[in-house]
Amino acid sequence: MIGILAARENSLYYFTKVAVFCREKAVLFAMQYFATLPASVSYITVNTAKKGYSKEKKWRMLMTDRQAKLPLTPRLSAGLLTPVMLRKLAAIAEKYEGIIKIAGNSIVILGLRPEHRAQALGELGFDTQSLAGKTVRSTAVCAGQPHCPRALQDSTRLGLDLDTRFYGTELPGKLRMGVSGCPNGCSEIFVKDIGLYGTAGGYTIIAGGNSGRKAQAGRVVAEKVPPAEVVPSIEKIIAYYQTYGQPGERLGQTIDRLGFEDFVACIGIN
Ligand code: SF4
Repeated sequence: MIGILAARENSLYYFTKVAVFCREKAVLFAMQYFATLPASVSYITVNTAKKGYSKEKKWRMLMTDRQAKLPLTPRLSAGLLTPVMLRKLAAIAEKYEGIIKIAGNSIVILGLRPEHRAQALGELGFDTQSLAGKTVRSTAVCAGQPHCPRALQDSTRLGLDLDTRFYGTELPGKLRMGVSGCPNGCSEIFVKDIGLYGTAGGYTIIAGGNSGRKAQAGRVVAEKVPPAEVVPSIEKIIAYYQTYGQPGERLGQTIDRLGFEDFVACIGIN
């Protein structure tokens, strides 16, 4: 009887081992297969968190997954892209079998193979931007003057100035800015770390918003700021964040931790 039970235990043990082995092989095979398809099809993520794989296996699977969807993101100041740049982007995407995706304020070629990326970058001939990192990201700007009849201030000019001055500045966390020419706020100014909208009397400055995991709405910190004084005002907000922000903390979280009134008094914009 004991012999029969032991044999049953043994066969169950080996059956489970074989089943786990087959499942892992099947997942890896599927990932390798998807990696050979166009980017739109190969955009997959396998959740390894609860599957009990070894650290090494998780890492290998994640790397395979990432390599299958390598992005190339041209840096666009204020989201502006000339027809010449757009044609070039399309030609590169076509040549290397990528796909173009409009992602927020960016345009991205997805699905490039790792061995093609450096070559594609060289042929593209313009700067790329990182979608990661604790820095100031590209400024989002609405259509604005002269294209939108509602514009009360030149949001494009201001967006370009902010981008030139602050893009890439290192900070405790990432920082997104948005500029709108009027209170309609087409560049989602209340969910940017720093948002601005134009009024007849100047710019309204909003701080502390974000649309990430811990989403929060920004709050108005100054009104009727003359266009020429906006960049110096943003310098003060960024200096506050550099001084008081903790690693990984968004501006809004720093403001909440230290107090909104203290923040406004500290930057002294109005
Ligand atoms: S925010 Fe105002 S100015 Fe800008 S595109 Fe929207 S409506 Fe036009």
